[in-house]
Amino acid sequence: MIDETHASGRTSWVTSANGHATFPIQNLPLGVFSPDGGTRRGGTAIGDRIFDIGAALEAGLFSGAARDAAEAASGRTLNPLLEAGPAARQALRRRIGEILDAKSAGSTKIQTIANRLLHAAEHCTVHLPARVGDFTDFFAGIHHAHTAGTISRPENPLMPNYKYVPVAYHSRASSVRPSGGSVRRPNGQRKPPEQAAPDFGPCRNLDYELELGVWIGPGNEIGNPIPIAEASRHIAGFCLLNDWSARDIQAWESQPLGPFLSKSLSTFVSPWIVTTEALAPFRLAQPPRPAGDPAPLPHLNDPADQAHGCFDIDFEVLLLTPKMRATSATPHVLSRSNAQMLYWTVAQMVAHHTSNGCNLQPGDMFGSGTVSGTTPGSEGCLLEMTRGGRNPVSLPNGETRTYLVDGDEVIFRGTARRNGYVSIGFGECRGTVTEALPLV
Ligand code: MN
Repeated sequence: MIDETHASGRTSWVTSANGHATFPIQNLPLGVFSPDGGTRRGGTAIGDRIFDIGAALEAGLFSGAARDAAEAASGRTLNPLLEAGPAARQALRRRIGEILDAKSAGSTKIQTIANRLLHAAEHCTVHLPARVGDFTDFFAGIHHAHTAGTISRPENPLMPNYKYVPVAYHSRASSVRPSGGSVRRPNGQRKPPEQAAPDFGPCRNLDYELELGVWIGPGNEIGNPIPIAEASRHIAGFCLLNDWSARDIQAWESQPLGPFLSKSLSTFVSPWIVTTEALAPFRLAQPPRPAGDPAPLPHLNDPADQAHGCFDIDFEVLLLTPKMRATSATPHVLSRSNAQMLYWTVAQMVAHHTSNGCNLQPGDMFGSGTVSGTTPGSEGCLLEMTRGGRNPVSLPNGETRTYLVDGDEVIFRGTARRNGYVSIGFGECRGTVTEALPLV
C-alpha cells in the first residue's frame, strides 16, 4: 500500500533527512541503539539522527494502536514489534512520519522537545535489532547457483530440484552480528584436490556473499503452514546480509549434508530493518521465468505474489584493503547487482519453509542467497568473480585479490529507487577480516 508516508513532497523538520540518500522521512527504518553510555532501546533512523521511540512515548506523542506499537518497539529488542505484525508496523510508521513531518499539526510544539527525542547517530551504537531465533539461508540467486555450480560441475551446473524447490540450508543464528565488527579468519579442515588428506589451518579462501536479509514477523504455530497468499503478513522487513564463507572448508565439509563451519563463523547484517511498508513503492512483478522453465508448483504460485513480489533494490559491494586505507583511497566498487536477480520471491521462501508445518518465529532471519547478475561486475562473491580463484581481480592501486586478505574491509550498500519516489537506503553492512587464531 502506497500512502502519505511515501509522498515525495514530504519533508522533515530534522533537516538532515531532507535529501538524505539513505534515511529520508520516507524510509523510517527500525532498529535498536544505545546513546553514549545509555541502555539499548528502539529507534528510527532519520537523516543523521536517531529518533528515540521510548522518549516519544514518555512525552505522550503516541495514542491508540500507534501507542501499543511504540511500546512494542521501545525495548531492548524489536521482537515484540515483529510479533505484532503489519497493522502495528503501519500504525507506528504513520505516527512517526507525522511526528517528524515538517508541516504536520503539532510539529512546532514537538520541535521544542527535539533534544529529548533525537540522538546524533554518530554518538550512538546500533545493535542487532532483534534476537534471531533461527537463520535460514536460501540459494535463490540463480546466476550465483549457476556459476558456482559450473565451477564444480561444468556439465550439470544446476541441480534438478533448483527450479522446483527454493533450496536452503539451516544456518547458525548465534553468529548473526550487526555491521561494523570484525570477522576472524577461521581455522578449519582444508583439503585441496592435490592433497591426499586434509589438514587443519587458517582458511585460505575466505569470501563474502552479498545477500538480501529478511526479518520474519508473526510466524506460525508448528503444524500450520503459511499459505503463499498470506506469506506477506509474515515478512516484516529487510536488511543487507553478508554470509561470510570459507570456500576451502566448505568444499571439503559440505558433502553430503551441506555447509556447516564454513558459514557459521559469522553472518553480518545491516542493523536497520527497512520495513515492508517502506519498500511498497519499489515492488515489481517477479520477472517471468525463461521459456522452458517449469511453473512454480501450486503451493508456491500466487498471482498477487507474481505481480508484486519482487523488489527493485540496487546493491553495491565495495572493498577497502589495508593498502588503500593507508593511502586514504576510497573503497573500490567490486560489483553491482539487484534484487530482481532472485529466482524465488520472499513469499515463496516463507510458503516453502512452512509447507511441512515448520514454525517460523518473530525475529527469524532469512538470507536470500547470493544475489549475482549475469554480466562481469555483477558477481555477488569472489568465488564467482575469480572463477573459483583462477582469475584474480585487479584493483585500481595495482593490488589483486582472489580471496580476502587480513585487513580487508567488505562494504555492502543497498538503495531502492523509482521515478517519482524518494530513494531509500539500507545503510551499510561492513566488516573487516582479522587474522586467524594461532594453532596450538
Ligand atoms: Mn549464502
